[in-house]
Amino acid sequence: MIHEIAPHVFHNQFKNDPELSDESLVFVFAGKNEPAFGGGAVLIRDHHIPSFKDFMGRLSEDDLEFLFDIDGKTCFLLKESSKYTFAGQDGFVYKKFRDIRQVQEIETYEYFLSMTAFQLHNWYDNNVFCGHCGQRLERSGTERALHCPECGHTEYPRIVPAVTVAVIDRERNKILLTKYAGRDIPFYALVAGFTEIGETLEQTVEREVMEETGLRVKNIHYFGSQPWGIVDDLMVGFFCDLDGDNTIHRDKEELKLADWFSREETELQPTDMSLTNALMRAFKEGRI
Ligand SMILES: [Zn+2]
Repeated sequence: MIHEIAPHVFHNQFKNDPELSDESLVFVFAGKNEPAFGGGAVLIRDHHIPSFKDFMGRLSEDDLEFLFDIDGKTCFLLKESSKYTFAGQDGFVYKKFRDIRQVQEIETYEYFLSMTAFQLHNWYDNNVFCGHCGQRLERSGTERALHCPECGHTEYPRIVPAVTVAVIDRERNKILLTKYAGRDIPFYALVAGFTEIGETLEQTVEREVMEETGLRVKNIHYFGSQPWGIVDDLMVGFFCDLDGDNTIHRDKEELKLADWFSREETELQPTDMSLTNALMRAFKEGRI
């Protein structure tokens, strides 16, 4: 899965005084006002691009936001990246995450780092001012947080829980697979959705399965979890049993397909990045 990056070692501990070196990685994201590049990311690396060293030489820590460490290398986010022109120059190109994922141009750990960097980029970008009093927020010196000097409000990175669910019809030995409506994703997925206020994860599972397919479930079991930074998610995977009638009443707004598949018929996603695919694989291989 995307976060399983061994032998690479990811450290997300906050550092107040990170050191910029030739080894550092800098992540650059296109601004929101550039629709052609919306949601795009580019990972820039000195050993790929000769002119990068010159560019890095002109930067100081003030131009950069500390992100995390990978294999002992400090990773940064370029602040106010719209000030710089990268696209089309020196081999730089902005690409959408979905496109990077499908062609597997970068290694899985780089994709994971890019997604996590993107989550922090969005968080900093969306929290320039205090939501309570409107004062400009300041970086905390002790933790990954933004602090309001006026009213004392503290803002932490946003992490949104969501579930992905393998519903299994034990009587017929089949799994419920779906395809999302309105999205250009050709491969199969599972019922999934965000947790709502006041809800447990198990209640999210029951509600999402009912809303999307009209099915009841029982014996809900935890499978695993996965950070998915593009949409600030912490995905939580469950498998559960169909409870009663197996007739699917598909929510046509949400899904363009929902049907039962045997282990043999279950068609996996093109990569092993997602928790959803890990659940589908576990069913196909007879582990759940
Ligand atoms: Zn405030």
